[in-house]
Amino acid sequence: MPRTAEIIAVGSELLTGGVTNTNAAFLSRLLTAAGVEVLYHTAVDDDAARLEKAVTIARGRAELLVFTGGLGPTYDDMTKTAVCAALDTPLVFHPDIAPDIRRYFDTVFHREMPACNLRQAYLPQGCTVFRNPVGTAPGCAFTADGVTAVLLPGVPSECRYLAEHCLLPYLERLHGQVIRSHDLRIFGLTEPQVQELLNDLLHQEKDLTLAPYAGTGEVSLHLSARAADDAACEARMAPLLAEVRRRLGSYLYGTDVSGLEETALRLCQARGLTLSAAESCTGGLIAKRLTDIPGASQTFLGGVVSYTNAVKQHVLGVPASLLETYGAVSAPVARAMAMGVRVLTGSDLALSVTGLAGPDGDDRGNPVGTVFTALSTPQGVFVRQLALGGDRERIRTLSAHHALDLLRRYLTDQMTGGE
Ligand code: ATP
Repeated sequence: MPRTAEIIAVGSELLTGGVTNTNAAFLSRLLTAAGVEVLYHTAVDDDAARLEKAVTIARGRAELLVFTGGLGPTYDDMTKTAVCAALDTPLVFHPDIAPDIRRYFDTVFHREMPACNLRQAYLPQGCTVFRNPVGTAPGCAFTADGVTAVLLPGVPSECRYLAEHCLLPYLERLHGQVIRSHDLRIFGLTEPQVQELLNDLLHQEKDLTLAPYAGTGEVSLHLSARAADDAACEARMAPLLAEVRRRLGSYLYGTDVSGLEETALRLCQARGLTLSAAESCTGGLIAKRLTDIPGASQTFLGGVVSYTNAVKQHVLGVPASLLETYGAVSAPVARAMAMGVRVLTGSDLALSVTGLAGPDGDDRGNPVGTVFTALSTPQGVFVRQLALGGDRERIRTLSAHHALDLLRRYLTDQMTGGE
């Protein structure tokens, strides 16, 4: 039953800086939540001798070695051979895996499987196979000489899939317990503020962990428990979850949701309300985020990317006098954009965003990061003024976050004083 781990990422591109080792971060979170302490991260290039050496070092300092990358069909993909050589385990052909790979070529690539892909059906003798329905490289786990090795593909979506669907159940079987977790999403507080509010709760016990992670302009908390079954895990987490909810109040916008867009959309759906958006500096980002959610068409009617004054005026009906008097980046224009798109689409509610994402401010002295977001509702229009920092990408992301936050606060009667 491994308690300590080392994550070994394989790939020359990780060492040259071409690819960021996001798999290591993801796997660390997953293993920590599973009660396995990650002691080391290693990255090795596509060199069999150096990888063998890394395995020899790692096996002396951790009980579980998790490899990611280098499981492809070409000759520079040598993770399996090097790991098996270092752990003295033969690689054997698994005839049941070849049809999986052939089927993936048939159904996804619509072509015949190249012969070299059969290399992917060679796996360590006696291993537990992690079948891969989202790619061609199967993963696996095996124990040799007291150390457990897990091999996962490098492609992040495949690595994630096999870690969640195969590695986690594998560890659960080894531990004789199940692991369950919840992701709590917070908007409006920084990570240090969350840490301060929850300081005494962020301790880590063997079977219960609560850890914060900072995203772009928001914070997530990962809560996980290990116990005999689902119900026992939930019972273990419940008091902590209740206390976190109590302390974070309305800053906690969702549990196990993909983002603010899902919370906002689900709230609209629950109330049978339709929605539209008029976007300037976000360039359609709000519409994109809402339509990423399956079933969004029941609620989100559509949007207008009104980047220029002409489109704001002629499509949304923003009066020219408002644009001239206050400028495009102003509360009155944000208000008129939201009202305009609401009339245009006939939606119950409408969002708008107008702002300066950079690199330059405007000729009225508004600095980069000045953003106005508005929500038009049957009860009137609410406007939030923002002064955001960061680069273009961050300002756009945060503008969309704020627009969606305005909407979800309106729908839960939790408007802040400034709106
Ligand atoms: P496949 O058979 O699907 O090619 P593989 O295991 O051989 O899987 P690699 O060829 O090592 O995977 O990596 C494929 C791509 O996945 C890389 O080009 C890189 O973009 C990405 N990748 C690899 N390792 C990592 C990592 N540790 N973190 C993030 N991305 C990674």
